[in-house]
Amino acid sequence: ARQFFVGGNFKMNPITKEQSLALAGGLNDAKLDPATEVVIAPPSLYLLPLKEVLRKDVQLSAQNAFFKTSGAFTGEISPSQLVDAGIPYVILGHSERRTLFHETSDVVAQKTRAALDAPLKVILCIGETLEQRESGKTAQVCQEQLKAVVDVLQESDWSKIVIAYEPVWAIGTGKVATSAQAQETHADIRSYLSKAVSPAVAAATRIIYGGSVTAANSKELSAQPDVDGFLVGGASLKPEFVNIINAKQ
Ligand code: 13P
Repeated sequence: ARQFFVGGNFKMNPITKEQSLALAGGLNDAKLDPATEVVIAPPSLYLLPLKEVLRKDVQLSAQNAFFKTSGAFTGEISPSQLVDAGIPYVILGHSERRTLFHETSDVVAQKTRAALDAPLKVILCIGETLEQRESGKTAQVCQEQLKAVVDVLQESDWSKIVIAYEPVWAIGTGKVATSAQAQETHADIRSYLSKAVSPAVAAATRIIYGGSVTAANSKELSAQPDVDGFLVGGASLKPEFVNIINAKQ
């Protein structure tokens, strides 16, 4: 069975260290389902202070990393630097990175390869825009984004990857995918993995959903057979994040 996985992507929030520490404190005091793997991704500046105080059964993730180990790359963070800092995970390919910072699927694939080599574990984000969904291209777009990564990985690398399906139209909009939409796309992604990598990798890889997840909608989504958890944005900054972590029955 695939272990349920819930990630909190704080994005560029909050804007003080105190508030970040307070979010960690809230998790430290909460009763979390021990069967769920929990990862939070604060702004990189707060990774080390949070590591000092955060309970050990909640892991940390960066929100991005570059594909080079070191060098003249002003403003970037190296996967090796994250490893040295004791950070196990990195989010790559988030739609905000793809859209606002022009990361192509090829760049995301290079970053994924470099992160795995560091070695980091990767939360790999994919997903279609509203226009792509409305023109029936959801499965195709997800496959194209995944294929770039499939092409640079070995079969054994997949145990270090969690795929986050995040439809762009659902991110930060309050418009969550229906359970049927999420299940259908997750099943499509899994069948693509089966063909493109192997049936064993398809069966073992966690495919989590992101986009306007709340405590209220997380229960029904978590009951879908191919929904293996969540990547939570806005609600990861609120007390209801605990309910999302504990959503799986
Ligand atoms: P929201 O939960 O705020 O819609 O964000 C989802 C997301 O982008 C997580 O990476």
